[in-house]
Amino acid sequence: MYTLENTTKQSERFHRNRRFIQRKETMRKLVLAAALIRFAFVGYRLIIPGPVSPSQNIDAEGNIVAQVTPGSMEVDWLSGSTDCATNDEPAIQVHQYDSATYILRQNPCADFEAPFMYLLIGQTRALLLDTGAVADAPIARTVLDLLAVEGQPRLPLIVAHSHSHFDHRRGDGQFFGYSNVEIIGHEPEHVQRFFGLDNWPNGVASLDLGGRKLEILPIPGHHPAGIAVYDTLTGMLLTGDNLLPGRVYISDLDSSRASSQRLVRFIESRPVSHVLGGHLEMDNEGRLYEPSSTYRPDQRELQMTREHVVALEQAFGDSGRFILYSAQDDFVLVNTGIIVTGIGVIGVVIVGVLVLLVFRFVRRRRNRAATTRM
Ligand SMILES: [Zn+2]
Ligand SMILES: [Zn+2]
Repeated sequence: MYTLENTTKQSERFHRNRRFIQRKETMRKLVLAAALIRFAFVGYRLIIPGPVSPSQNIDAEGNIVAQVTPGSMEVDWLSGSTDCATNDEPAIQVHQYDSATYILRQNPCADFEAPFMYLLIGQTRALLLDTGAVADAPIARTVLDLLAVEGQPRLPLIVAHSHSHFDHRRGDGQFFGYSNVEIIGHEPEHVQRFFGLDNWPNGVASLDLGGRKLEILPIPGHHPAGIAVYDTLTGMLLTGDNLLPGRVYISDLDSSRASSQRLVRFIESRPVSHVLGGHLEMDNEGRLYEPSSTYRPDQRELQMTREHVVALEQAFGDSGRFILYSAQDDFVLVNTGIIVTGIGVIGVVIVGVLVLLVFRFVRRRRNRAATTRM
């Protein structure tokens, strides 16, 4: 029955329903908008790699010292072969850590040193750390291909070295003649001059690759021109042959000890995602491969941690003034400086004894001759 009371009630019910529907519609739009924003954010992250769950270190002035972005270390490194004639794996293995970071490794069959090389790409230039142990393994072609972006000029490339032993720079010659490639010299003064390390081996230099700052820390000891490279984007600390899963050869004990102390001070204020060295010489059981082995089954992972940097300093501290061979959990210190000095001393002694014997022999002959004449 259409009474005034009923009509009013109907109207109130209609408007109540209407308000409910409007509120529901508003909620639906809000949820949809939130979903779109979230999708846009996640999609952006998928297209443009950025700092996902960043871990930041901020200095006293509030500046971001480092913001670590994630990457992948899911990789099986080439193990080489006992009979390298049958090995058909590539001379250089390329592992993509993230869209702008590559870890390259020479096949143990290409050279038993099987060194690692690191390519760090910024927005305006890139840095390659080390060129490997084999002159004709295709390091230049591999790196320049990785830098190529269709329709764009190739980024300038800096070729630097963790240190100047031949197994880290034999590929340098392949970069000769390319435009926009600068190769840093091998002597300590070349490294000092390029990075502006005026107070070598103290101080830290920085190198901006465009949106990606690297820090360079002198760490002589294994070699006089040794450096560590810290990447503020990924938190990687590249230590060359000064810290790696395997043999750490020391040529200058005092310098190595001081460098290990500077490394520890350096990482105290910086996040470290991975400590990455120049070689991998240890299996998953902690056993060392033979130094010249071309077959390395069951390899340990390459990456080490900041705890290993601390352990390195500790090992030098515990050893006092003398180290010949010191086995730690994931690396071994071998003092080649002492071995070379020892060989030198033995050589000098042998030469001295030979000279003495010859002198005595000659003197005896002369005495005998003089006696015969009388
Ligand atoms: Zn070396
Ligand atoms: Zn090396």
